Amino acid sequence: MAKILFNHVYKRYGKYKEVAVNDFNLQVEDGEFLVFVGPSGCGKSTTLRMLAGLEDISGGEIYIGDTVVNDFSPKDRDISMVFQNYALYPNLSVYENIAFGLRLRKLPKHEIDLSVKRAARVLEIENFLERKPRELSGGQRQRVALGRAIVRKPQAFLYDEPLSNLDARLRVQMRSEIISLHKKMGVTSIYVTHDQVEAMTMGDRVVVMNKGVILQVDTPERLYNRP
Ligand code: ADP
Ligand code: ADP
Repeated sequence: MAKILFNHVYKRYGKYKEVAVNDFNLQVEDGEFLVFVGPSGCGKSTTLRMLAGLEDISGGEIYIGDTVVNDFSPKDRDISMVFQNYALYPNLSVYENIAFGLRLRKLPKHEIDLSVKRAARVLEIENFLERKPRELSGGQRQRVALGRAIVRKPQAFLYDEPLSNLDARLRVQMRSEIISLHKKMGVTSIYVTHDQVEAMTMGDRVVVMNKGVILQVDTPERLYNRP
């Protein structure tokens, strides 16, 4: 768990150096659940990917705790990211998908086993551990993707539109599961969405973005004028 700070962060893409993220300044508090909302192409995903280390930063600094992580590899940032398309390994079982990051870290086998089974129990997928992703429904796959994120306690969780491929009923259910996981684990989280309902209901604070800049940062109550 850690505080995260974006200090004058820029991202310019490609030959023409088009600005995707423009002087982004934000402090995310320790243990906070923050939502980024805004139209497609406004830079939400780029911002998350820079924080995770999946994209170079063109200017400024990103801090995790008191450390500038600009030059850190994704692994050394100790951040878990959940993607819209699940990003599961098709040829690995559910068990191995969840265990993957722990194996990379060379944890002892019994520790991996305990962690995988605990995450699977929390998400109620313990009966599917032998299956391959293709043998699961969309909702079950998304749980495996979540399982892979929560199998250990990282510095932060990043969610990039994780529910947009699910049907409405599952989306509602998974929203509350993500929130209750957050209450249990207390890990600093950033959740990207273009869905106003998710922005209104999930975050401690909401960051409204447009065209690479922050328009507003506030609690959902104040932003959406609710009592
Ligand atoms: P969002 O997540 O809000 O939909 P993105 O961060 O994906 O927005 O994109 C922000 C801007 O950066 C868009 O104009 C997009 O076209 C551009 N962009 C994103 N990824 C790349 C890339 N790999 N190369 C060039 N431009 C990109
Ligand atoms: P090996 O390195 O010999 O291939 P595995 O990674 O297959 O070992 O198994 C190590 C431990 O992980 C086993 O003792 C078992 O408890 C657990 N394990 C592996 N796969 C599964 C699974 N699909 N379901 C439940 N537990 C598993």
